[in-house]
Amino acid sequence: MRGMFDTLEELAYRAHQEPRGCLLDMCEEKKDISLKMRTADACPECMARIRSRVKSGHMDAKVAIDCFRLMDMVRRDLMYRRRWRLDVQPGALRISGYAQQVDLPGKRVALSPIQRALYQFFLLHPEGVRLVDLRDAANMEQVMALYFPIATVGNMATQEATIRGVLLDVEGKLQQHLSRIRRAFRQALGMDEAEMYVVNGTPGERYRIALDRQYLLWADREGGQVDCGSMSNPT
Ligand SMILES: [Zn+2]
Repeated sequence: MRGMFDTLEELAYRAHQEPRGCLLDMCEEKKDISLKMRTADACPECMARIRSRVKSGHMDAKVAIDCFRLMDMVRRDLMYRRRWRLDVQPGALRISGYAQQVDLPGKRVALSPIQRALYQFFLLHPEGVRLVDLRDAANMEQVMALYFPIATVGNMATQEATIRGVLLDVEGKLQQHLSRIRRAFRQALGMDEAEMYVVNGTPGERYRIALDRQYLLWADREGGQVDCGSMSNPT
């Protein structure tokens, strides 16, 4: 853009106020940038100007070519991301083995036994559970039943106390574990893709894992299939 005009004032004056999918679009509205990058092109008027500036020696043709090449690369990425959101299926989540580890295609999600038990509890509840309801006896028992077999420290009494402390959110422990679960998935997948797998919710409302359970392959310690229903993802 600098090469197309002699002064910044002239550039500012000539930039298109109305976006037309040209590299000279002003894009005061940031959402217009998406149009500009999707066309990754110049309008006929600007193309003629670029050609004449190159001809008159005010602009290096290689710079112009590089700019369009760069815009093409950004464009390809934008299109790829759009397509990815629409038709690529989520990677299958696997839970298996003696320690009931959580795996995504090609990578293990690094979760502690407590986090695995908590995560598996939410997998078993596609409808979601409010965090305050975790202290209900039935829910507590279910988390403990998931935790005891895979716990690596303590005895029955201390393990029970540990889970009770987490579910009662003593010293913010519940939130700490939920955010560690989030971090583990983000480390494995990156920010955007992890969203579908993590335990999410609005305080006071139900927390849930959005993943459609048809992408969950859960074998218990004996190799039996664990069924979590298949409530589809409403988002
Ligand atoms: Zn233009």
